[in-house]
Amino acid sequence: MRQYIIAGNWKMNKTVSESVALAEGIVEATKDIKKTEVVIAPTYLAAAKVADVIKGSNVKLAVQDVHWKDQGAFTGKVSVDMVKEIGAEYIIIGHSEQRQYFHETEETVNLKVKKTLEAGLKPIICIGETLDERNGGKLETVLSTQVKGAFQDVSAEDAAKCVLAYEPVWAIGTGVVATDEQAEDTQKYVRSVVAEIYGEAIANGMRIQYGGSMKPDNAQGLLAQANIDGGLIGGAALKPDTFFAIIKAAEEAL
Ligand code: PEP
Repeated sequence: MRQYIIAGNWKMNKTVSESVALAEGIVEATKDIKKTEVVIAPTYLAAAKVADVIKGSNVKLAVQDVHWKDQGAFTGKVSVDMVKEIGAEYIIIGHSEQRQYFHETEETVNLKVKKTLEAGLKPIICIGETLDERNGGKLETVLSTQVKGAFQDVSAEDAAKCVLAYEPVWAIGTGVVATDEQAEDTQKYVRSVVAEIYGEAIANGMRIQYGGSMKPDNAQGLLAQANIDGGLIGGAALKPDTFFAIIKAAEEAL
């Protein structure tokens, strides 16, 4: 049985004081959550303060990206050790906004995945197709390339620590959500690619989140699908009540 994982990606939203307030609201809302893993990813700037707020709670810390080098002349970047020191457990890697606007490639995703695992942290690896790719019959090729690229030279033991997030690019921040069936069919395919690389046991144990306009009113249907093990949430993660409603849907789907 795979444990649901609901992660909030705050993107470039919330000042430090707003982040602290949001984290406090989420800690309070989730105090009775028993089964679902709850993760929040504030900005780097707010991450250390948010880490203090969530200490001892049901909420875990993620960051939204990382560099694959240990240290040095990489202006604007943050290393895995810096993230680890403040208590982050997860790192979001390969988000479509990183791929689209900041030159993220299969190679840099792979370098970041390996660095994260080396440090004992867990990657949330984002994959997903554009609408043109889906409509052009390239869905499977795109996803298979992304999955295989991310896991290049990653051992089965390490792969088992990773979470995948299937996020159709056309659904992120658009309000257009994949249908339950589209998401399920695609995630089933993604799992089959993992099985091709690592075998059925690792594939069946790997958690695959859905991301892309997941909201309280569509979460229940999506989370009821056999191959959807949680959500990576953008907009709806920015308020304790909408984020909690999705967590509750996961808790009740178990
Ligand atoms: C995301 O940022 O990964 C995301 C899925 O955003 P939204 O929920 O706003 O579509």
